Amino acid sequence: MPNNQNFKRIKKEIYFSIDRVIKIRQFILGREVERFEKEIASYIGSKYAIGVNTGTDALFYSLKSLNIGPGDEVITSPFSFSSSADAIVMVGAKPIFVDIEPRTFNIDPFKIEQAINKRTKAIILVHLYGQSVNFNPILKIIRKYRLRIIEDVAQSLGSRYKNRFLGTFGDLGCLSFYPTKNLAAFGDGGAILTNSPKIDKYLRLMRIHGAQKIYYNYPLIGGSSRLHVLQAAILRVKLKYLDWFIGQRRKIADIYYKYLQGISLIKLPYQDPVSFHSFNHFTIRIKRKRNELYKFLERNNIPVAIIYPKPIHFFKSYNFLGYHRGDFPEAEKAAKEVLSLPTDPKITEKEGKKIAILIKTFLKE
Ligand SMILES: *Cc1c(COP(=O)(O)O)cnc(C)c1O
Repeated sequence: MPNNQNFKRIKKEIYFSIDRVIKIRQFILGREVERFEKEIASYIGSKYAIGVNTGTDALFYSLKSLNIGPGDEVITSPFSFSSSADAIVMVGAKPIFVDIEPRTFNIDPFKIEQAINKRTKAIILVHLYGQSVNFNPILKIIRKYRLRIIEDVAQSLGSRYKNRFLGTFGDLGCLSFYPTKNLAAFGDGGAILTNSPKIDKYLRLMRIHGAQKIYYNYPLIGGSSRLHVLQAAILRVKLKYLDWFIGQRRKIADIYYKYLQGISLIKLPYQDPVSFHSFNHFTIRIKRKRNELYKFLERNNIPVAIIYPKPIHFFKSYNFLGYHRGDFPEAEKAAKEVLSLPTDPKITEKEGKKIAILIKTFLKE
């Protein structure tokens, strides 16, 4: 089916769903959220899914559910969106950064072991851009030290490692439905995946003030972090098309691979033969003139992005950890070289080709 017809149909279904919510007037939790939770859990192959406000909340409550707090250390990547480290600080624990592998941009399995000590409780595995972490060696270390795993799947819903969906390897998987993600809400949204009935029960209380259904009965102290009903209704429609959306992203990626191969200044994204990349971003490395190319493409109205221009240990807010420039050379180098080309499902193959040609023109190759 041609692109625009599919998008028209999706739009119609979304309007219909919004209308249904307004008619039923159930605006807090209830049917839409419950059904969305069942549908996303079933899509990904997880026992439970708990809808929350944002991906950041998902990470925060996941750490809480594992009883991680002051005195504990959590290992994670310095090359990520700030919130994968922020969540650790927010629960009172200490983030311990481990440098990344240059080709996956994800945590380097062979540098994890030296960061582990008595205080290490867990690891937050960020799957950046739609690319899985290098799981096999990571799982070996984690089993050896009995660490808990939280997967940050914000950018990688629909990606797989050895045919299994990311988000199902750890104790918990955290999803975000922020509008730039693979499954995009019309605003904020998030979800937590788990196979543990105990954690499921805990999270369902924590997202509503720690209260039980009968109000004014508070077994826990929690927050106000529900997934919004209108977003759940919209996400239920979009989830049906998620595989198609990802297919569109991969088609655009193929165009970039085809037209940008063999350019000496550019390194194209690595694809691990045992994993399935969902291309939330198509992130190239460019050795020189990255910022100039970025500005050139922006001037030509191409929605390019630098994800991320700074590793987290360079943030002023993270000075207190005592890290220095040079501590994570691969993350620092990536921050200087990365450029993400748009893979939005709405982009046509023609537009993808145009972007590739613009890049070639700029580089005069
Ligand atoms: C988007 C994102 C988050 C946070 O999601 P929000 O829903 O915006 O709070 C966390 N981690 C990564 C890697 C992300 O890309």
